[in-house]
Amino acid sequence: MKKEKILNLFIGSNNQGKIKEIKDLLPKKIEILTPKNFNLSSPIENGKTFEENSFIKAKFFSKKTKMICLSDDSGLEIDSLNKLPGIYSARWSGKKDNFNLAIKKVYRELKKNNLNWNQTKQTARFICALTIYWPDNKFVSVRGTIEGTIAKFKKGNNGFGYDPIFIPLNKKITFGQMKSKEKYKIDHRIRAFRKIKKFF
Ligand code: IMP
Repeated sequence: MKKEKILNLFIGSNNQGKIKEIKDLLPKKIEILTPKNFNLSSPIENGKTFEENSFIKAKFFSKKTKMICLSDDSGLEIDSLNKLPGIYSARWSGKKDNFNLAIKKVYRELKKNNLNWNQTKQTARFICALTIYWPDNKFVSVRGTIEGTIAKFKKGNNGFGYDPIFIPLNKKITFGQMKSKEKYKIDHRIRAFRKIKKFF
C-alpha cells in the first residue's frame, strides 16, 4: 500500500462541475492539473460499471501525463428505469452537456414507463467511483453512494447535472436547491472520497 502523501495530482475529467467539487475536497497544498493544462481530451468510456470507467480514465490520463491521476465516474441510477441513466448519465445530456435535455429525458422515460410515475416514490441514487492511478501502475478504486428520490419537477439552480431533480433521503429539497457546502457534506463524491482521503 502506498505510504507517501500525494502532492501533485492530475484530475482526469473534462467536466468543470466535477473538477470544482473534487478540488474543494482536496487539501489546498496539493498542486492540481487538469486536461486543460495539457490540451487532452477524454478517452472512450466503454466500461460496464462506474468503477471500470473511472479506472479507464485514471489510467489513460496517468499514462499521458506520467502523473498520479484521480478520476471520477459518477451518475444517477433510477430504480424504475432499470437503473438508467446510470453509466450513461453524461451521455443523456448529448454532445453539448445540455442537462435540460438530460432532465427532460428522465421525465419522458419515467412517464413512458408509468403514466402515474409521480404518484409513487421514484427511488434513485447517485453513485461515484473514484480511482487513483500511479505511474508505476498501482491503483485504488472506491465507491460512494447517496440514496434519494426523483423530484416531481426540476427545482433549484445550484450544482450541475441532475442536481435539480434529486432529493436526498431525509431531506425536503433537491441538490439543486442546496448550497454547495451542504451538498458536499453528504453527497456520493465525499462518501467515496473519505475512503481515499488517507492518500492526500
Ligand atoms: P461521467 O462520470 O463524466 O461519465 O459523468 C457523470 C454524469 O453524471 C455527469 O455528467 C452528471 O450528469 C451526472 N452526475 C454525477 N455526479 C453528479 C452530481 O453530483 N450532481 C448531478 N449530476 C451528477
